[in-house]
Amino acid sequence: METRRVYLDHNATTPLHPEVKKEMIEAMEMFGNPSSMHAFGREAHANIEHARQSVAGFIGAHEDELVFVGSGSEANNTVLSLFACASNLCIPGFKARQTIITSRIEHPCVLETSQCLAHRGTTVKLLDVDRYGRIDIDQLKEYLSDDVGLVSVMTANNEIGTLQDISEIGRLAHENGSLMHTDAVQAFGKMPLDVDELGVDFLTMSAHKIYGPKGIGALYVRKGTPYCPFIRGGHQEKGRRAGTENTLGIMGLAKAVEMRALEMEDEARRFAAMKEVLVKGIEERIDNALFNGHPELSMPNTVNVSFPGAEGEAILLYLDLAGIAVSTGSACASGSLDPSHVLLATGSSAERAHGSIRISMGRETTMEEIEYVLDVLPGVISRIRSMSTAYIKGEEHVAAK
Ligand SMILES: *Cc1c(COP(=O)(O)O)cnc(C)c1O
Repeated sequence: METRRVYLDHNATTPLHPEVKKEMIEAMEMFGNPSSMHAFGREAHANIEHARQSVAGFIGAHEDELVFVGSGSEANNTVLSLFACASNLCIPGFKARQTIITSRIEHPCVLETSQCLAHRGTTVKLLDVDRYGRIDIDQLKEYLSDDVGLVSVMTANNEIGTLQDISEIGRLAHENGSLMHTDAVQAFGKMPLDVDELGVDFLTMSAHKIYGPKGIGALYVRKGTPYCPFIRGGHQEKGRRAGTENTLGIMGLAKAVEMRALEMEDEARRFAAMKEVLVKGIEERIDNALFNGHPELSMPNTVNVSFPGAEGEAILLYLDLAGIAVSTGSACASGSLDPSHVLLATGSSAERAHGSIRISMGRETTMEEIEYVLDVLPGVISRIRSMSTAYIKGEEHVAAK
């Protein structure tokens, strides 16, 4: 019997949208260097500028404010690295402020870059979160001082789906004369985002989380905001990101955005219905299931749940045998057995964090697939728990490793 394949790991990456694939296959014929002045170059250049208009328009930005970069990770590195910029491109007032505020639940590309900056003399203050993963606004107010140059808080968390009040955080940052950045990789294309409503100076996007190609992202930079290129040595992107443009990737990203504009709204309603069935089903069929993330202020496609007494990795592998692809805490940390830094920040015990899986739905996910998960998962959990001699039903306690 052929096992069926159910992909429920869309927060890690998504398949190409058929329209994106079509667009990219056609674009492969077009090889001109966008910097060349001849017809081959001009054609590529025109396509890139058209793509820039689409992506900028989607977030309420002006096309001049959009920089194409190699990934979401690169966009985040670029913003944080403004602090390490020794050139005179940064305005003096900004350079004088040497404190960054960010949160404990950011993507590793923000946290590790912050750590690196801290070793080089930048002061980094990490905001705590509550048990649902919402940042502590009072603590933010406390941390804001005239030395804070940048506040960086993600719009939606990739592991638990929790949303932050970016408008409010941005308002407080600006009141303090600080710049505001949000890593919107997970929220982008899942909900409407407008850079003016959010009140951000920088916003990070990535294509492969929205059915676009891998290795292409975009960074919104508000007009007039201090900026230093992370990759130097070329006039591309108006000197903001050197390197011959990834024409194919850029066109794929723009097509993905166009499709999001058409599909996003209906899809959010579908997700909400499927999420409700999934959460209720798990609650009814599995003892002691502990949900992570905010019950309402959360992305409708994401369910993160812990099963004390069952290791996340074991659950993942058993589900994989049934053709179901989910992830443990974080795809980026897989290979490491460290418990998720996000779940630990919400006050979860290491045991609870170890026993968690993330189910993230996508545009092709069906209610029937959710029912299949609900048929398979209870058996998987009880099997793993029965092998774990130390698991005592109803108690969040497992044996030491
Ligand atoms: C995936 C992801 C990134 C990294 O984007 P890449 O394009 O894969 O480098 C950054 N932040 C969040 C929240 C993500 O989910």
